[in-house]
Amino acid sequence: MKKPPFKKILIANRGEIALRIIRACHELGIKTVAIHSTADVNSLHVKIANESVGIGPAPANESYLNVASIMSAAIATGVDAIHPGYGFLSENAEFAEVCGSCGIAFIGPTVRNMRMLGDKAKALRAAEKAGLPIVAGDSRGVIELEDAIKIAESIGYPVILKGCAGGGGRGMKVVSSTDEMRETFPMASQEVEKSFRDPHLLVEKYLTKVKHLEVQIAGDNFQNVVHFGVRDCSLQRRYQKIIEEAPATFDSKLINKIQEAAVSLARAVNYTSLGTVEFLLDVETQKFYFIEMNTRLQVEHPVTEAVTDVDLVKEQIRIAAGEELSYDQGDIKLKGYAMEVRINAEDPKTLIPSPGIVESYHAPGGRGVRVESALYSGYEVSPYYDSLIAKLIVIDDNRENCIKKMLVALDEFVIDGIKTNIDLHRKILSNSTFRNGLVYTKFLEEHNVFEEK
Ligand code: ADP
Repeated sequence: MKKPPFKKILIANRGEIALRIIRACHELGIKTVAIHSTADVNSLHVKIANESVGIGPAPANESYLNVASIMSAAIATGVDAIHPGYGFLSENAEFAEVCGSCGIAFIGPTVRNMRMLGDKAKALRAAEKAGLPIVAGDSRGVIELEDAIKIAESIGYPVILKGCAGGGGRGMKVVSSTDEMRETFPMASQEVEKSFRDPHLLVEKYLTKVKHLEVQIAGDNFQNVVHFGVRDCSLQRRYQKIIEEAPATFDSKLINKIQEAAVSLARAVNYTSLGTVEFLLDVETQKFYFIEMNTRLQVEHPVTEAVTDVDLVKEQIRIAAGEELSYDQGDIKLKGYAMEVRINAEDPKTLIPSPGIVESYHAPGGRGVRVESALYSGYEVSPYYDSLIAKLIVIDDNRENCIKKMLVALDEFVIDGIKTNIDLHRKILSNSTFRNGLVYTKFLEEHNVFEEK
């Protein structure tokens, strides 16, 4: 039998993604250590891991973001690697550096890659250098209002402000005039400084009708880079994805170009892990633009797994252990159509989070249906963390059948006791514009799906 890539991995995360990673580790013959805050003592990831360590109180700053506490747990349990999942410390280069200096492998790219690509401005410059098209703007972050006005006036309004160190849509503001800029810029800058300890903002042309397309890539330490096709993540609310689809196939020539662009960026920076290169496609001009690269496992990775039949987490773990990619580009074949809906504990109309006890829980099943969730009947959804409580992924032979299957699966899903956005998903999936594939990032702003047919 093949030797496992690592002996023991600590999963520096919680919820569905911790479960997902623990399962991959166990299948590879790797022992696991779960960490948990006091709010997560009764969580599934704690129950299914081989060992678990309490790392602090409920607020994430004192537990899942507490590097000292996590490293103590890692050293005390003798792990040889840490998987950060997504969110929390997954894109924190200092954390990866601390892992390295403790002789523990960080399952992700190099610290150098994280520093370069984790900053939106630096990433834009790296992409530009690698020949990728970028949105008009200035690929240097600004802190002075007057500089932001100069850039905006030279490219023309509307523009979008984004935190250079940002993510999760925070600090992101569309600005339509210089007067508005005077009002918005200081607020956005303050917001990103508070969230990410960096006030720099990018000023970029705001594209009004776009699709969000992204390429899943993987690179190893032997200069091999492959892509796993394009995901369409255009269905968003407040700049956050809620439905993801794969593969994007509407124009194979264009899709090929986008895939090639992603691979050339990964090659140019010697990228050695899983990663996602994100683009916007301007629907009117059919031009695509690089926006950022995520140097971690992505929430929506299961849709790519469904259409490629590759276990991306196992691949990511093997690469971190220094193994060569198990796939050549020619081995990666796309088959069928997959869709993921993100189920959040929130009021579907107001989007206000809805923590509380899950009184009864039943997950759908059947052929081509996958549920990633850490819920169970009696589980308490904590107010301290992200409201994502389940991902429902379905695969079928084409988009139309995929939507039908998703609607059947949603009907079967029971999550009682808290509010969820299941009904919102039903409405979106039944909407004729969505069903015709005319999905752009502003879909939910432009369609009142609760009223429309
Ligand atoms: P984050 O890191 O916060 O996810 P991104 O740069 O990936 O930020 O952008 C998130 C979303 O914001 C995109 O998917 C898109 O909907 C919107 N967006 C970002 N840049 C632009 C732009 N220049 N024009 C129009 N929409 C944009």
